[in-house]
Amino acid sequence: MTTYRSLVAGEWIGGQPSPHLNPSDLDDVVGHSALADAAVAEAAVEAAVQAQNVWQAFPVAERIAILDRIGSQILQRTEELATLLSREEGKLLAEARGEVARAGQTFRYHAHELLQPQGERYLSTRPGVEAEVRHRPLGAVGIITPWNYPIAIPAWKIAPALAHGNTVVFKPAELVPALAGELSSIIHDSGIPPGVFNMVLGPGPVVGETLLTSVRLHGISFTGSAATGRHVARQCLEHGNKRFQLELGGKNPLIVMDDADLDVAARCALDGAFFSTGQRCTASSRLIVHERVHDAFVDRIVSGAEALRVGPALAPDSQIGPVVDAVQLERNLDYVRIGCEEGAELAAGGARVDEAGNGWFMRPTVFTGVRNDMRIAQEEIFGPVTAVISAENLDEAIALANDTSFGLSAGIVTTSLRHATEFKRRVRAGVISVNLPTAGTELHLPFGGMRGSNHGPREAGRYARDFYTQPVTCYTAW
Ligand code: NDP
Repeated sequence: MTTYRSLVAGEWIGGQPSPHLNPSDLDDVVGHSALADAAVAEAAVEAAVQAQNVWQAFPVAERIAILDRIGSQILQRTEELATLLSREEGKLLAEARGEVARAGQTFRYHAHELLQPQGERYLSTRPGVEAEVRHRPLGAVGIITPWNYPIAIPAWKIAPALAHGNTVVFKPAELVPALAGELSSIIHDSGIPPGVFNMVLGPGPVVGETLLTSVRLHGISFTGSAATGRHVARQCLEHGNKRFQLELGGKNPLIVMDDADLDVAARCALDGAFFSTGQRCTASSRLIVHERVHDAFVDRIVSGAEALRVGPALAPDSQIGPVVDAVQLERNLDYVRIGCEEGAELAAGGARVDEAGNGWFMRPTVFTGVRNDMRIAQEEIFGPVTAVISAENLDEAIALANDTSFGLSAGIVTTSLRHATEFKRRVRAGVISVNLPTAGTELHLPFGGMRGSNHGPREAGRYARDFYTQPVTCYTAW
């Protein structure tokens, strides 16, 4: 049985052991994590601060080689890591393979991103003066991640942080120590100098809080819930005015127009709402449907949801895996009760699936007759639950789509170029999809939301550099 430990200054550090169970099979102990305390987190911060000068001055070719090695190792171990991910988080094996591959490719992408032009030169308005903007590393940064993409989201952050000369203290979600441990071990074995990359296992209020309140760190990149994100922002401002980047939740609309191909619409909605058990920040949790196709669409989505096979993540015929743990399952079921009390109609699902096995299984759930001001249409549920809302026309559909505190992802299914163009112009979201599920992203394109879904620069692709570097304007006279 593996025990996952923290990595500080190149050394593995033990702690209070805590077992981790497979959400598909509660008799399967995936491993133990040795929970660190605040002192270990402080030591990790110190190690990252001490290593910063070394890493910043490290030859670029060697930095590229290290990141490339990390990416290649992840890709070589895809099958093993994907199986572990399925056992730890409950993602279906095919989805887990995709996530692991994405993480490996992300390290390789950012290795080679370093060969792109860095900095800018300007003409100076003063004679005999040269003007340039250099991009310098931010410094030692804290990276705090959620459980739902336990290797891809850490990779999105760690790869550009290291590429651009920053040192890192990584705090993974307590629910997913195994993937964090394996990723850290791959990074450790890559030849990276001790202290450049550190990882601390432990609860958010202890380990995460130590990073937030440290005045030695220069920035925090955080992905997680809106409530924790607000706390991160306050603490960063209070403690050293650290730079912070927040990627938060969503209440993502998918509009279905009366000119849509309804098979495409049903495929997009089922994928967007239920794949990965709906545990995606980009999940289609509001289906806003033109009233002329409302009933025909509801028939398709309800029969589609009922036909989805819920089962263990590693079973080849499962289409929906388990909910991540008992707390999240209870939260999902609470929202089912809330939706019923608010007067929405439970058209599919809404209950546990006991016959799927000894795990946290829940049936894909569809509410119809939903008003956009109901809690089930405004609050992020983060489970396999979606709400159908009827709209009279495109204007009303876009107004409903925008009537949310979030703004992460939004989609439309339509065959009209005019409707698609209007939607892209007016919907308030950072990621927009036309005739595609709201949940698809590519690693070389920017990712992030608006309003309550985001604060700070975008992640991924070359936009990732904006958080991990700071521009310095230099004037030189000869
Ligand atoms: P949480 O906000 O609960 O936790 C996120 C991370 O913050 C975890 O590592 C957690 O640690 C840590 N944390 C908790 N409390 C503190 C604290 N006081 N100080 C510092 N760190 C703390 O989110 P979840 O893990 O439940 O993830 C689900 C959320 O993430 C959803 O809202 C989802 O929409 C969002 N998300 C957003 C994405 C995006 O790119 N926009 C992508 C994926 C998810 P621990 O859990 O160990 O206590």
